[in-house]
Amino acid sequence: MFSFKPIKESQKESCCATTSESCSTESHDCCSPQPKGKAACPLCGKAAKGVLVKTLEHLLTDDTKAKLDTLEGFHYCKTPTCEAVYFRGNEVLKQDALTVTVGLKEGASPATVCYCFEWTKEKIKAEIEATGKTTALEDIKAEMENPGCSCEILNPSGQCCLGDVGKVVKELSK
Ligand SMILES: [Zn+2]
Repeated sequence: MFSFKPIKESQKESCCATTSESCSTESHDCCSPQPKGKAACPLCGKAAKGVLVKTLEHLLTDDTKAKLDTLEGFHYCKTPTCEAVYFRGNEVLKQDALTVTVGLKEGASPATVCYCFEWTKEKIKAEIEATGKTTALEDIKAEMENPGCSCEILNPSGQCCLGDVGKVVKELSK
């Protein structure tokens, strides 16, 4: 197994250079605090994090939004094999309720992992096949500094993608 080393020391200052689990800096643009508390997905039973209203506002289709009184109280299911993307109690929103493809769900195409800078599993895989490595993490970290990211409104999870990208790179580098 190989492990990732920080590209440069200064990135420790950015809360987004770490995995989303440790994102807690409230002042950082792409990391405003997620709604507290987890809920179990009614389809797969796994614990899921809450999702911000602005994330749903941006990513749900107009039809879906028209049917909902409020976008408060939804959670995001990240289980790859589960059809639920968002849920609130027993109310479930699937892929067809969204305007973007949820790349981390099984069989998704394109399998987007970074929505701000358009990195997909396909692109990472092609790069690894062509050059033996991928610049995805370096590229995303550099773009996060300038121009900056918009994970909250572009990523279905509403969170920083770096943890997910790291996992994908590891998986595809095997
Ligand atoms: Zn689920």
